[in-house]
Amino acid sequence: MLKIDDLHVSVDGTEIIKGLSLEVKPGEVHAIMGPNGAGKSTLASTLAGRDAYEVTAGSVHYAGKDLLALAPHERAGEGIFLGFQYPVEIPGVSNLNFLRTALNAQRRYRGEPELNGADFMKLAKDKAKDLEMSLDMLKRFVNVGFSGGEKKRNEMVQMAVLDPKLAILDETDSGLDIDALKTVSQGINALRGSDRAILLITHYQRLLDYVVPDHVHVLADGRIVRSGGKDLAHELEAQGYAAAVA
Ligand code: ADP
Ligand code: MG
Ligand code: MG
Repeated sequence: MLKIDDLHVSVDGTEIIKGLSLEVKPGEVHAIMGPNGAGKSTLASTLAGRDAYEVTAGSVHYAGKDLLALAPHERAGEGIFLGFQYPVEIPGVSNLNFLRTALNAQRRYRGEPELNGADFMKLAKDKAKDLEMSLDMLKRFVNVGFSGGEKKRNEMVQMAVLDPKLAILDETDSGLDIDALKTVSQGINALRGSDRAILLITHYQRLLDYVVPDHVHVLADGRIVRSGGKDLAHELEAQGYAAAVA
């Protein structure tokens, strides 16, 4: 589903990702862990196609396509969802409008009919309810005045409505209290399925108690320096990154 081969990425002329390879198959959940500054968010931004991230070498294939040749909206249309460490606020645009516009843009890209207002409302309400988000919050401007936990919960509602094939979540767990962490984990687990894959980027092992990964990778200084099963996350938590990758 996703194949990253010897990827090198520079930001402002400084190389941040320094030869990263990773293969994710349908149905798998991969956790990418690592110390602050390792390049985790840079990897997520590169996969999203953000402007400042210059790929200087290597390749990324998604569902057989050259991902790096696709514009950001095409990546979304192809079923990639990116959840960011710091969700943006969009004053003046309601959550409902934002979601309906995004969903219908993706459906048009795929040649599928747009959802009408009634069908969209039913879908949005169902997904929000699963994630314990009120209708009132769906009507508010995107993330404006939301707490950190509410923003992350809102991201899970967006993800559930957009129904991606590959979800890449950058520190979705940061700033969550234990109840919000459980709700967000439910949202992620609900998406697990044989035809989807999830890349969980996280600094802490805590999330992985609730969303148990199939594979864990350690990213340090722009490279994957260790890979293992779910137990690797516990080892990292117990020993710290420095000892685990020494
Ligand atoms: P992580 O998410 O693992 O904490 P980041 O990918 O955010 O790490 O950052 C990796 C390195 O790249 C850091 O040294 C950071 O300062 C640098 N970096 C990230 N984004 C930029 C940017 N836009 N401009 C300059 N340096 C950046
Ligand atoms: Mg960081
Ligand atoms: Mg980061």
